[in-house]
Amino acid sequence: MEGRAAPPQPERTRKLAEIIDGKAFAANLRAQIAAEVATLPYQPGLAVVLVGEDPASKVYVANKAKQTVEVGMASFEHKLPADTAQAELLALVRKLNDDPKVHGILVQLPLPKHLNADEVVAAISPEKDVDGLTVVNAGRLAAGLPGLVPCTPLGCILLLEDRIEDMTGLHAVVIGRSNLVGKPIAQLLLQKNCTVTMAHSKTKDLPGLCRSADILVAAVGRPEMVKGDWIKPGAVVIDVGINRVPSGVEGKTKLVGDVEFGWADKVAGMITPVPGGVGPMTIACLLRNTLTAAKRLENL
Ligand code: NDP
Repeated sequence: MEGRAAPPQPERTRKLAEIIDGKAFAANLRAQIAAEVATLPYQPGLAVVLVGEDPASKVYVANKAKQTVEVGMASFEHKLPADTAQAELLALVRKLNDDPKVHGILVQLPLPKHLNADEVVAAISPEKDVDGLTVVNAGRLAAGLPGLVPCTPLGCILLLEDRIEDMTGLHAVVIGRSNLVGKPIAQLLLQKNCTVTMAHSKTKDLPGLCRSADILVAAVGRPEMVKGDWIKPGAVVIDVGINRVPSGVEGKTKLVGDVEFGWADKVAGMITPVPGGVGPMTIACLLRNTLTAAKRLENL
């Protein structure tokens, strides 16, 4: 913290930022999806492929399966051993591409090191690519064509759309340029007529740039990197970061975002908390993408 000014004391009368409750929004979205699924003459199906025993991935996959079934969709789990060969994994993906009961395919990343994730993702049919990671879907997003959009960016834009009626002309700064998060979020904001600036590790004067943002999206993976005095008063802050840090209690950890929430919420107009902001939107948007894919594949 050397060289850093102390957080300004908030005025007593100053209103704290409105908290964007992603957990409640995601629950509502899942309820809407379930209601629509109940009206369909077929059952949308999501296949999730897990290779190996990564504990975090196992938790994610179990949560995805549980929520898939809760909205009335079919869940097909494929758990493969850590030493699965590339050819075997590719063969499974191709089988799922051809299976009419499967409308969405997700291969849980990261894969064990001996496997080529790019080749596996490329093998997924773009029409079933509910993670939106194939080059075809990235290209469709960049070209403004209908496709399947990566789940976390889709979740961010749904939260923003819900809070900001018209984003036209707003300056959006996205910190992070990954294919999974930063780039697709920037594309979606551009579609909303924002003026978008993408920032990354080589950006000069990041604090100054952030201070010019009406919408600030942090997708970096660095605990509380974005300080309160980087935020323009009244800005809308979307914190995508999920970072596990020591909680202060021996042996316990806690989750924090990329934004220093305890200061930022005294400056921003609206802000997503971590946990409970963007995080819960990701699986809800996976289910939404599966529904979208199913409707397109079934021509309904
Ligand atoms: P990546 O590591 O792929 O990308 C991080 C980006 O942050 C890179 O573009 C990098 O720049 C940039 N960056 C790193 N350090 C700095 C810095 N000091 N200043 C400015 N930019 C910097 O991460 P992801 O995009 O996959 O994920 C980002 C965060 O979002 C993580 O915390 C992750 O856990 C979280 N996440 C949350 C999800 C959710 O469901 N809420 C889903 C997916 C991710 P450069 O390109 O120059 O290296």
